[in-house]
Amino acid sequence: MEVSGTVISVRDLVKDYPGPAGRVAAVRGIDLDVDAGEFVAVVGRSGSGKTTLLNMLAGIDQPTSGEIRVAGQRIDELRGSRLAAWRGRTIGLVFQFFQLLPTLTVAENVILPMDLCRTVPPRRRRGLALQLLDRVGIAEQADKLPATLSGGQQQRAAIARALANRAPVLLADEPTGNLDSATSESVLGLFAELAADGNTVVMVTHERDLSGYATRQVTLADGLIRADVRACAEPGGRS
Ligand code: ADP
Ligand code: MG
Repeated sequence: MEVSGTVISVRDLVKDYPGPAGRVAAVRGIDLDVDAGEFVAVVGRSGSGKTTLLNMLAGIDQPTSGEIRVAGQRIDELRGSRLAAWRGRTIGLVFQFFQLLPTLTVAENVILPMDLCRTVPPRRRRGLALQLLDRVGIAEQADKLPATLSGGQQQRAAIARALANRAPVLLADEPTGNLDSATSESVLGLFAELAADGNTVVMVTHERDLSGYATRQVTLADGLIRADVRACAEPGGRS
């Protein structure tokens, strides 16, 4: 799917959760526009609403009120199988603990979303999986089980899986949270490359130094955007 211009558009987004002492406001009125090719880092203290925001962008969680448009689709109005089909085509998800299926090889993990979405003809799936694994730098690990890979290699496999259906939007929740600092930098570099190739990346992170990687940093505090800063330098220009 080719997507250009504004890829994510959020208006007055609110999410309350029921709690023992009444409703807890996790997101309290967020407006956000993200263009194709941006690499947005979402930062903020624990409990500031980062995961809640990301899950609503993925259509995993429904907003209490407000509008969410992703790749031209009002996803707050989608439900059930239509939402699942939309998500499979549009969103690649990356998690802190990789979430690879342990009994499938790395290549089979990447093929799985193609099998579920049927976006790629069966005879082309393995070839595309190998291409994606090459793209993320672990082609030689294709036929191994995830547990035999390092953490960084597993996260690269998970990123290849997120790209399997050529999803234009990558959403990652603390993808470097379980990696050492050198490996984290290489994963941040990979996201920066994917954004430079036209993917739109929104990443929740606790990384402190995002300069040279993210093109924009959005800071959440108590369910609101407190700061929204675009980088001056071109991504990839880190030295
Ligand atoms: P972050 O990812 O920034 O740490 P979250 O989005 O997970 O923050 O949480 C924001 C707020 O919403 C927190 O106060 C949290 O306790 C609350 N919250 C998140 N998910 C739920 C849930 N499923 N049920 C009730 N409260 C929740
Ligand atoms: Mg979180």
